[in-house]
Amino acid sequence: MNNVRDVIIIGGGPAGFTAALYTARANLNPLVIEGFNWGGQLMITSDVENYPGYPEGVLGPAMMADFRAQAERFGAEFLTDDVTHVDFSEHPFRVFVGSDEHRARSVIVATGASARQLGLASEQTLQGRGVSYCATCDGAFFRDKVVVVIGGGDSAMEEATFLTRFASRVVVVHRRDEFRASPIMVDRAQENEKVEFVLNAVVEDVLGTEDGRVTGVRLRDTVTGKITEVAADGLFVAIGHDPNTELFLDWLDHDEQDYLVTEPGSTRTNIPGVFAAGDVQDHVYRQAVTAAGSGTMAALDAQRYLEALEHLPSEVADLAPTAKR
Ligand code: NAP
Repeated sequence: MNNVRDVIIIGGGPAGFTAALYTARANLNPLVIEGFNWGGQLMITSDVENYPGYPEGVLGPAMMADFRAQAERFGAEFLTDDVTHVDFSEHPFRVFVGSDEHRARSVIVATGASARQLGLASEQTLQGRGVSYCATCDGAFFRDKVVVVIGGGDSAMEEATFLTRFASRVVVVHRRDEFRASPIMVDRAQENEKVEFVLNAVVEDVLGTEDGRVTGVRLRDTVTGKITEVAADGLFVAIGHDPNTELFLDWLDHDEQDYLVTEPGSTRTNIPGVFAAGDVQDHVYRQAVTAAGSGTMAALDAQRYLEALEHLPSEVADLAPTAKR
C-alpha cells in the first residue's frame, strides 16, 4: 500500500513532540498532526522553571518551539491542522483531517487535556485580561492585588497557596462546604493568613470594566440564594481539566472521566498499534516532563510494534490487528 506511514502522531504538546523526536531518530518518518494550536497547555504558560535542562527557566512557548525544532531536525513532518475523525476499524489505521485521509501502521495519540471553564460569557470576554486558568503562569501579574480562586480540589488549594506569594488577599470560592482536595492541601491553604474561603457559592458573573479588566465576581449562595459581590483584580479558575479524547472514545478504552486507558507500564491501548501518551492518559502527574517521558515510551512501544509486524507474513500484517469496538 502506498502512502502508508509507519507512524502518525496526533497532538503537538510535550508528549507528541517527544514521540516525534524518538520516532524520527528511529527512521520511522513520523507525520505529526499537531493541531491548529500546537504546543498545548505550555502555550499559555510563562516561565517554566521545573523542566530539567533549563537552569535559568524558559518561557513555555519557547520551550515548545524548541521541542518541535528538535523533532524537525531529524525529519519529523508536521501538519498544522486538527484531526477531525479517526477510523481504527482496520489496519493500516485511518486518520482524517477534513476529507484528507492519512493512513499509518501505528498511531500515537497525544492530544493532551484542557482546563475546564465555568461557561460564562463574561469569563470568555475577560480571558487573559484577569481571568486565568494557571496560577503558575499568571500569578506574578497580581502582585499586591486581590484574586479569587474557584474550586475545591487539590488544584484550587495549590493555586490559592501559590498565589499568596504575590497577591495581598486570595479568596477561594467553592460550590460546596466539603472539599474534594486532600486534607493536607486544605489545611495548608486555611493556615495561610492571606487566604479566605467562601463556601456554598457559585460564580454568577465575572465583573469587568468596559475596557476589559476584571473588577470582581458576582456570587450566588447555593443554600440561601443570596447574591454578593467580591471585588478582585483577577480570577483563577481551578476546577479541573478534561482530556481531549472526544475523537477516540468510540474506539479506545477510557475511564469514567474519559481519560484513555493504557496497559500499566506501557502506552498500549486496547487496539494493538494505537498508543496513548501524555495528559490524555494521565490525570495524576500532568507535568511537561512526565508527558515527554510518556511520549518516549509511546515511540519505543510503536517501534517495537512495527518491528513485530515486519516479521508477520504480509497478508496477515495487512489485516492484523483488527480493531474491536
Ligand atoms: P478536581 O479534583 O476534579 O476538582 C475540581 C474542583 O472544582 C472540585 O472541587 C469541583 O467541585 C469544582 N468544580 C468543578 N466544576 C465546577 C464548576 N463548573 N463550578 C464550580 N466548581 C466546579 O480537579 P483538580 O483539583 O484539578 O485535581 C485533579 C487531579 O489532580 C486530582 O486527582 C488531584 O488530586 C490532582 N492534583 C494533585 C495536586 C497535588 O497533590 N499537589 C495538585 C493539583 C492536582 P465539587 O467538589 O463540588 O465537584
